[in-house]
Amino acid sequence: MQVGLISDVHGNRIALEAVLADMPPVDALLCAGDVVGYNPWPAECVGELRAREVPTVMGNHDRAVVEDTAFRFNRMAKAGVEHARRALGAEALDWLESLPVERRACDGRVRIVHGHPDDPDRYTYPEDFSPRLLDDEDVLVLGHTHVQHAERYAEGIVVNPGSVGQPRDGDPRAAYAVVDLEARTVETRRVAYDVETVQEAVREAGLPDRIATRLARGE
Ligand code: ZN
Repeated sequence: MQVGLISDVHGNRIALEAVLADMPPVDALLCAGDVVGYNPWPAECVGELRAREVPTVMGNHDRAVVEDTAFRFNRMAKAGVEHARRALGAEALDWLESLPVERRACDGRVRIVHGHPDDPDRYTYPEDFSPRLLDDEDVLVLGHTHVQHAERYAEGIVVNPGSVGQPRDGDPRAAYAVVDLEARTVETRRVAYDVETVQEAVREAGLPDRIATRLARGE
């Protein structure tokens, strides 16, 4: 069974489309949260995941939108959350609100969280990866750092597919991953997309300029 993994789409419709077009055929697609925030198209990204019935967990930006707690964020993140609150309709908000903090997929073989199994807001950077993160699942998927990384252990795979919509690992290309559950292998993948069109849309939406400039640098 081939499983496509995405995370931290952050309202970047152009990057999401590039990832979905580039992805090889998969039997399931899963998302580790932060569908909205930062970029101009939260409604379109929610719509795409809902249409494809993608099992998704709630990211901290998704939660800030439904709980209206953007005031805790920095200026850039706050602007993206406020933009999403204006852009999302009632059904999209209901869907975001329905997202669990953790979920299982693929007959329980894959566990999905946003940041860390113990705390959705905790960052798990590559140096924090460990087989101790695994419970009884074959694959643990997490996001939140926007840093793509995967480790294969005897106990299973821990993978952060990276960020679709705002990579922060120095590579501006959209990130995702594909896991083969039978072979127990994981492939991290990148795909270039039209960053300039997103940058123009960020500025047209009145979002902070730094949201646009960081996309070109992968930061
Ligand atoms: Zn994020």
